[in-house]
Amino acid sequence: MRSHYCGELNASNISQEITLCGWVHRRRDHGGVIFLDVRDREGITQVVFDPDRAESFALADSVRNEFVVKLKGLVRARPEGTVNPNMNTGEIEVLGTELEILNAAKTPPFQLDEHQSVGEDVRLKNRFIDLRRPEIQQKMRFRSKVTSVLRRYLDDNGFLDIETPILTRATPEGARDYLVPSRTQQGSFFALPQSPQLFKQLLMVSGFDRYYQIAKCFRDEDLRADRQPEFTQVDIETSFMSEQEIMAMTEDMIVGLFKELMNIDLGTFPRMPYSEAMETYGSDKPDLRIPLTIVTVSDLMADVDFKVFSGPATDPKGRVAALKVPGGNALTRKQIDDYTKFVSIYGAKGLAYIKVNDKSNLEEGLQSPIVKFLPVEVRAALLERLEAEDGDLIFFGADSAKVVNEALGALRCKLGEDLDLYTCKWAPLWVVDFPMFEETSDGGITAIHHPFTAPSCSPEDLKADPLNALSQAYDMVLNGTELGGGSIRIHQSSMQETVFELLNISKEEQEEKFGFLLDALKFGAPPHGGLAFGLDRLVMLMTGSSSIRDVIAFPKTQSATCLLTQAPGEVSEKQLKELSIRVRKPVVES
Ligand code: ASP
Repeated sequence: MRSHYCGELNASNISQEITLCGWVHRRRDHGGVIFLDVRDREGITQVVFDPDRAESFALADSVRNEFVVKLKGLVRARPEGTVNPNMNTGEIEVLGTELEILNAAKTPPFQLDEHQSVGEDVRLKNRFIDLRRPEIQQKMRFRSKVTSVLRRYLDDNGFLDIETPILTRATPEGARDYLVPSRTQQGSFFALPQSPQLFKQLLMVSGFDRYYQIAKCFRDEDLRADRQPEFTQVDIETSFMSEQEIMAMTEDMIVGLFKELMNIDLGTFPRMPYSEAMETYGSDKPDLRIPLTIVTVSDLMADVDFKVFSGPATDPKGRVAALKVPGGNALTRKQIDDYTKFVSIYGAKGLAYIKVNDKSNLEEGLQSPIVKFLPVEVRAALLERLEAEDGDLIFFGADSAKVVNEALGALRCKLGEDLDLYTCKWAPLWVVDFPMFEETSDGGITAIHHPFTAPSCSPEDLKADPLNALSQAYDMVLNGTELGGGSIRIHQSSMQETVFELLNISKEEQEEKFGFLLDALKFGAPPHGGLAFGLDRLVMLMTGSSSIRDVIAFPKTQSATCLLTQAPGEVSEKQLKELSIRVRKPVVES
């Protein structure tokens, strides 16, 4: 129907007869002539209708925003003084000769350029209109480019794109499953995949050697900020490649992606052991754009006459740590109170601090509600360890190591943002040497990555000291966000059984849930490993979006519903009967 996209016209098209199709972005009546800004996916062109052509003029007069039109016209240079340098098509306009209304439109629930003043609920409910906004169209196009560049890289490196089932059994990645009732096996349920983990491992057992998939994954989590119940992974698995080789190849892929689409050189990614990340940054995904570090001071505080410090300092699971903010002396009481509230979200019971006014005067140069509890030698040792200068502020965390790490880790990122401490725009790294397991609150153990991750030691050593065993897992982190994570997998059934045992999964349960995997590992499973990138998060970072909802065409809300389709919805009695399901509604108290 069209000869050109609206957004692609420029001075080289002057004097051409063209046909455009698109939406009326805006209509303006300028005393005698009518201007229509016509929009399509490539951009906007200004079209002028004058009263000389009575028929098209009358039609142009009648159209409203978001009408769908087709028009013919002549491209001409804009008159002197009306060139718009902010528009791609700003040098030209089209003199409209014919106009056809292809479809009318009701008044949209919000104007595309006023989306910010309407709530996200309204936008998500009318997502088909929201998605017309040029800004979000750009993001969807960018996302498509990202997948195409990644696919090209993987195709060129011998990876096969293989689909795995959506109706399947549970794949443990630490979340709740979405379940689908079976009609043919009443009382039985499929689980939607939390990831294609086990299938991709089976593909390695089958000899495909290199697999990838742009895979939908489903996790029924209580939605913490900015997660989606269904999301997309770039899922990768390889055989006969070492941890180092897998990291090098996927790093090369991501470096190439940033170079090609954004002309950004991410350089070589540093590698940091998990223990260092937790100790120094309080997080397994440190944001290395922020120069602040967390420093352990437990040894200095062990004997002070201040239980809040000496308690955790002498508890094997405790930690006392300090976070120095250069120039932080200027923070007000109110700001410090706000930070105290902020760390309480992470379980910290308070936020002790010292303002270093004059470090040469240890008696009176330190301003702090707690300094009176610290002997002068401790004050001196503290300032020396932190290399504190006059004008600095030192925050403290004293609690279980877990609370201290989470609280100071989050505070570090918040300070980085609030005080704009960033030293660079992009800070990638690999976090490696994760522990295999961590303790659960009920005293059991759980896999840090997933139970198919290979330990760095023998089954005997693993059994002897599971909580101190390291795994062959690795995470790629960018600006404090985990872009992707993976591991070398267990490829021997005896090791896999050992891990299941340590996780307290009985023989029967192993057989019932993972029998097919244990079998496969006995039939010539090659050494294999891989990883998965979170596509939504990657695109969010690359486009500078503040939410993953901005880079997903049809996202769900925080409460895991789709406002557009009103999913999830009730189903008919007949459908429930076919599935032998009777719904017990929660009792609503009157
Ligand atoms: N299946 C893992 C995940 O979804 C990624 C991997 O180990 O490859 O986190």
